[in-house]
Amino acid sequence: MSRNDKGTLIRPFGLPDSASRPVVTPLSPAVVYASDTPDMLDAQYDGALSGYTYSREGHPNADVVAARIDALEGAPHPGIITSSGMGAVTAVLLGLTKAGDHVIGGNTLYGRSLRMMTEDLPRLGIETSLVDPGNVDAVRAALRPETRLIMVEVVSNPTLRVADILGIAALAREKGVLLVIDNTFTTPRAFKAYDHGADIVIHSVTKLLSGHSDVMLGYVSAKDEAISDRLRVFSVTAGTTGSPFDCWLAERGLLSFDLRFDRAQATAAQLADHLSTLDGVTRVLYPGRRDHPDHHLAEALLKGRYCTMVTFELDGGRAEANAFARGAQGLSFAPTLGDVGTTISHPLSSSHRAVAPEDQAALGMTEGVFRVSVGLEDAEALCAVFSQAVAAARTG
Ligand SMILES: *Cc1c(COP(=O)(O)O)cnc(C)c1O
Repeated sequence: MSRNDKGTLIRPFGLPDSASRPVVTPLSPAVVYASDTPDMLDAQYDGALSGYTYSREGHPNADVVAARIDALEGAPHPGIITSSGMGAVTAVLLGLTKAGDHVIGGNTLYGRSLRMMTEDLPRLGIETSLVDPGNVDAVRAALRPETRLIMVEVVSNPTLRVADILGIAALAREKGVLLVIDNTFTTPRAFKAYDHGADIVIHSVTKLLSGHSDVMLGYVSAKDEAISDRLRVFSVTAGTTGSPFDCWLAERGLLSFDLRFDRAQATAAQLADHLSTLDGVTRVLYPGRRDHPDHHLAEALLKGRYCTMVTFELDGGRAEANAFARGAQGLSFAPTLGDVGTTISHPLSSSHRAVAPEDQAALGMTEGVFRVSVGLEDAEALCAVFSQAVAAARTG
């Protein structure tokens, strides 16, 4: 074909030849990949040749992100990138269970995970029990012969209670039940789930791993190869593959993940101590502080990296909470976490709005409780903003 003929066809061009390669991963938005022959396509589907076919089944940008998170987690088999953290939760809860099975969840799981356990699984004939993940006896008491998996988070939202992961992992191993850890809050920087008995690890990549609040993705990987395969097949069938552009942005975020985590965590520790000195703050919850109810457990499990979240309680009700949020200038009042900028959330008007009042009280969730996801601001400047906002709440 001559150079001029090529211009009359729609897609005849490959990339121009280059002896060198791009330093940055190319973004590959292609949905379909062309193979040379039917034999070659057969070989790809059979696994004799590696190659992409249709992007719901996998694409290079997803694989690059998965490989980075696999390396951070020490995952034994390649992880799967899903279109959101809930996509990963769904792959585990629906892809690995059948009617008649029983599932145990921590009662402080992410709200949508709780909803799937209380609404969707029972509708499909899968029974669920929610228990305090800090109490291994409660987990043991909830076990049944049909229990298939136990799903927990290491540090709970928003009270930052620490789960008894070692106790639960020993129990899961003894009973042959899968232990699923949602490591979104703690991240592999603070907690290596596979080293602590996890069979399956989940992330909302949307949060700290991507870190810039411009990507929605999830991740799941498994210790056992057959389970890993089932999760992948289910995700492809359910259609939860993440978009190449989101994966491309997530890779960019991951390049600085460890630095961001360490910086935010050090600032969180400083902010927690600062908040505890302010008039008008009645409680500070940070697992790195000695006055946290799970400090010793956090010390043992999190190797001094605790987390990038601080929760505190303002003296007062909704009016003081509104005044605080208005006074926290330059910070986003937004129900998310893990952004490069500090965000503040108010559980009673967001994550815990549907929780019954008596349960709110039992959890210590009052109108004055705020959760801070600490970002990369200068620690002293950040503390100054909080001093000012707490003062604004006191004066109305
Ligand atoms: C946000 C979050 C999820 C859900 O992730 P999405 O990406 O929002 O779907 C699951 N678990 C935890 C702990 C989360 O914080």
